[in-house]
Amino acid sequence: MANTTAQNIVCPKCGFRVETKIYQGINVTEEPKLRESVLSEKLFRWKCPACRYEATLKHPLLYNDVKNKFMIYMIPNIVSEQLVDSKLEEEFPETSAVTKRLVPSFNALKEKIMIFEEGLNDMAVELAKLAVSSVIAKKIGKNVTDGYFSMLDKEKNMIGFTFFLGDDHEVHCQSTRMEIYLKSMDIVNAVADSDSNKSGFLMVDRRWAQQALNDYKKIIHD
Ligand SMILES: [Zn+2]
Repeated sequence: MANTTAQNIVCPKCGFRVETKIYQGINVTEEPKLRESVLSEKLFRWKCPACRYEATLKHPLLYNDVKNKFMIYMIPNIVSEQLVDSKLEEEFPETSAVTKRLVPSFNALKEKIMIFEEGLNDMAVELAKLAVSSVIAKKIGKNVTDGYFSMLDKEKNMIGFTFFLGDDHEVHCQSTRMEIYLKSMDIVNAVADSDSNKSGFLMVDRRWAQQALNDYKKIIHD
């Protein structure tokens, strides 16, 4: 069963007050429809019944995929690198065998869902993304402000990313051979053992990848 709460939301346009069901935790193995609602963003959409004004809700959500053994805690705008929720660990003692991630945004949540559903290692994906993004930044001459895993073609052995470049957030899609992912896996195996054993929810993002790369360079220099 999904974990929900009722909250009073006041319409920012007309001031109408309406009790709204807010999802705090969902189990998509039990309720696959909720997975669809997350991916289509329907779960976060709010519409004022009085004036039809539409808004996006920003609230924490614990996304639990029991079948694929991953949990993602989305806490909007969180900057912490790790979150240990002892209450949650008590409630779900089996979660130590589950991949647990912390994400600060809806786009990052969707990206992690895609990565884990494809059976990929998100640490290697972040490292591959970092490598591809620096190539793109040099080639186009703009800063990469954001980037997401966007496709895996197992037949053609390709992995793809969508990047946002410069102040105008120009969209750039780039696919590349899977070798970059496999090489990244070597780095993960060399440096990330300690991270893999950490308890709680871990933030595996661009900052994590940069740190892992620095650690790796130290290892191969010694
Ligand atoms: Zn309204």
